[in-house]
Order: sequence, then C-alpha cells, then structure tokens
Amino acid sequence: MKSKMSECIFCKIAKGEIPADFVYRDETVFVIRDITPQAPAHFLVIPTRHVASAAEVADLAIWAAVMGRATEVARSLGFTDGYRMVINTGVQSGQTVPHLHLHLLSGRVFGWPPG
Ligand code: 5GP
Ligand code: ZN
Repeated sequence: MKSKMSECIFCKIAKGEIPADFVYRDETVFVIRDITPQAPAHFLVIPTRHVASAAEVADLAIWAAVMGRATEVARSLGFTDGYRMVINTGVQSGQTVPHLHLHLLSGRVFGWPPG
C-alpha cells in the first residue's frame, strides 16, 4: 500500500498541521482519540515515523513502541474489564489510512469473529 507522506493524514497530525485529541506523545509514538469512535473508548496508537502498514515494518523496535504504549494507555485508563487491539493491514482488512496504527478499543463487549 503506497502513499505519499506529504498527503498522509497521520503525518499531518504528527506535524501539527491537522488538530487531534492527543492523550500521549513522545518522539517515537503518539496516541489520539479516533475521530469516529467505534466504542466508548477508541484510541489510535501511531508511530511518528511514516510506515504504510504492519506489512511494511522493517524496524522491529516499532512494535515495542506501539504495543508497549497501547498496553500502558490501557493500564493508565483503567481498562480492567478488557480491551481489544486491532491493526487493519491492507485493502481486504479495511485499512483506510495508509500509515500504521493500532486501534485500542474498550468500554463495551466485542463480538467474535470480527466482521
Ligand atoms: P483504519 O480503517 O485504517 O484501520 O483506521 C483509520 C482510523 O482513523 C478510522 O477509525 C478513522 O476514524 C480514523 N481517522 C481518520 N481520519 C482521522 C482524523 O483526521 N483524526 C482522527 N483522530 N482519526 C481519524
Ligand atoms: Zn504518514
């Protein structure tokens, strides 16, 4: 999944060119509220560096940053009844933004299998 970084929504959010509701930020990763929440709590954990999808990850340290931050946010926000982490990857998965992001969802019961 190719994309131009200059046109990428999440790169623009990282640079402050598009506003977002940030709940965490460091050099490597940031966490924002999803603009169209699919659960009472719906956050996106996003690496600052542009990587088009999970399939494009070369530096495995990205996974430590993204997964580690997701579990830290879940812990700090008290998602003690459980949560779901989703990484849509590629066209058939439903990925719509071609910049790697992990959905962190909580606050309701989730069905299985996923749709
Ligand atoms: P995907 O479908 O690629 O897995 O997820 C993309 C997510 O990004 C969607 O849940 C969508 O609501 C969210 N999103 C798209 N544009 C924006 C935006 O400008 N701001 C925020 N906060 N979320 C966005
Ligand atoms: Zn990007």
